[in-house]
Amino acid sequence: MEEKLLQKVAITITDGDLANADFLCPICGKSKIIFSFTKIPSSQRFGLFIECRNCGYRQHYGLLSKPKNFREDLVIEEYQELENQVAKLIKKDG
Ligand SMILES: [Zn+2]
Repeated sequence: MEEKLLQKVAITITDGDLANADFLCPICGKSKIIFSFTKIPSSQRFGLFIECRNCGYRQHYGLLSKPKNFREDLVIEEYQELENQVAKLIKKDG
């Protein structure tokens, strides 16, 4: 059930109406979620982080193409940093 709600939230963030992006956390329902787009280093891919600071739920999506709603000001540095770290780890393994 939560998965479906989250999918809906993620799709609205990437391609939907961000003017109404006032999303309650699908897990705890008590707090608004924080979201951030990210640019995946050394690829043309993008990422999306969704996090609830109330219950600590965090989800990351890999996006194959640039999301319609992508804007530089929707990239939160903290999450971009996480994305960079993950990219580094993957490089090490490969
Ligand atoms: Zn929550």
